Order: sequence, then C-alpha cells, then structure tokens
Amino acid sequence: VAGARTVAERDAGAPFPFLVHPEWAEQLPWLAQGITARNADSEYDMTLFGGTPARTVHERWAALRQFAGLPTAVHARQVHGARVIIHRRSIDSGLIIADRADGHVTADAGLLLTVSVADCVPVTIVDVARRTVAILHAGWRGAAAGILERGVDALVHAGSTCADLRLHLGPAICGACYEVGLEVHAALGLPVPPSARPIDLRGILAARAAAAGIAADAMTTSAHCTRCGPVPLHSHRAGSAARQIAVAGLRGGAAESVEHP
Ligand SMILES: [Zn+2]
Repeated sequence: VAGARTVAERDAGAPFPFLVHPEWAEQLPWLAQGITARNADSEYDMTLFGGTPARTVHERWAALRQFAGLPTAVHARQVHGARVIIHRRSIDSGLIIADRADGHVTADAGLLLTVSVADCVPVTIVDVARRTVAILHAGWRGAAAGILERGVDALVHAGSTCADLRLHLGPAICGACYEVGLEVHAALGLPVPPSARPIDLRGILAARAAAAGIAADAMTTSAHCTRCGPVPLHSHRAGSAARQIAVAGLRGGAAESVEHP
C-alpha cells in the first residue's frame, strides 16, 4: 500500500483467536484494539446476525469485552454507508446495538467500539494527544460513500487535529485477491478498465486518508489478507458467512477500580 507502512498483527495471547497491532500494543497501553480471527478447530464466528446460535456468539462477545477490559461493547447494523455515530460514556454494561451505521467514535473510556468484517477494511483512527478513537467499516461502497472522510471529520469536530491522528488499515482482502467490475472502479473515481480488474482497497483508503490530512508516516496497513492469508480469517469472497470483529476503545476512566486505604 503506497504511503502506509506494513505491519503484521500478532496473536494477543487471548483465550480466543485475537490479533493486535504490535506497535500500538507496545506504545499505547490505554488503547484497547485488535481483531478476532478464526482458529484451527472452530470458525469462531462473531456475527450477531448470522447462523451461529445467539448464545454462543454472546458468550464470545462477553469474552471479548473481558479481555479488552471494557464493560460495554457498541455495535451497529452495517449498511455500507458513511454514517458515523459519536458515543458518550454509558451506564449500561454488556452489548449495545446502535442504529444503522458504519462508523463509531468516542472520547470516553469504557466503550469498546466494534465493526464486523470479512474482506471489507476495518479502519482504526486514534488521536494520541486527546485520546479519542474511531473505528470504521469500509468496503468499496462505504469508501465510495466517504466513510473514511466522515470518520476523520467526526474526530476533527470532537477536537482532534490531523497531526495527532494515527490510522491503521486492518486485515482485509488484498489487491491481488479483489477483482471487481467496472462499476466499482467508476464508483471509486478510478479509471474504468475494459474488463474486471483487481483493486487494492486499502491502498485507495490510504490515498483518501492522505487527502483528508493524515500524514503518510502515521499510517500502517495490515500484512494479512482475509482471502490468501497467511493468518486464518473469514473471507466473504472465499464463501464464508462468518465474520470477525475489529475493536477499538479507551481504557481507564471511571470504570477503573481503585484501591482504598
Ligand atoms: Zn489476498
């Protein structure tokens, strides 16, 4: 991906398949971040709206919240649009399903923002100065609709400056695996080829992020492809109906336990 450095998410050592950005895990301990994956003996499907029994999926979500150390997870029905919701601290714990949206932002600790993906790009943006975080679900329709730009706008409205933002393009289908029709090239404003050609969606998003004001050296992209590996992940193109969940949230704040003398 032009303009973004490649990093390989590593296993987080969770009791379920879960990968984290290795540099952020090292440098930003106040940030909960990462993505679920498959494992050898189970698909580890995380979708709330699919065929896996709800009880199994909810147990997995509870394990995810527990490992992240945040009491409340926020998810939405995703519609490949550009709507971004700004979330405030919640007194509820457990799982909150928001109205239709493809992006989430918060400046409040305790909320684990989540998106569901299997080939589409999970985009995480972190303001390391103000400690604000965004997570976006960006397939080609969402990218064309402007989800990346709407996410950056939401952070700027919340008080961020672009110089403080770091962006990561997570595991997604790669530029070798993602052949798309002419209408997709046209929708993304690319030159329209004579026949179907692959596109590098993460490269396109990196270019859009640069145009939105994020510095190239503040961007990273995952080495992992959902379709061709090397880490086992769910791929819609490969025929999977299962989904992995990418997460971002802020630790600490009121939810943190304190010892009284
Ligand atoms: Zn690939």
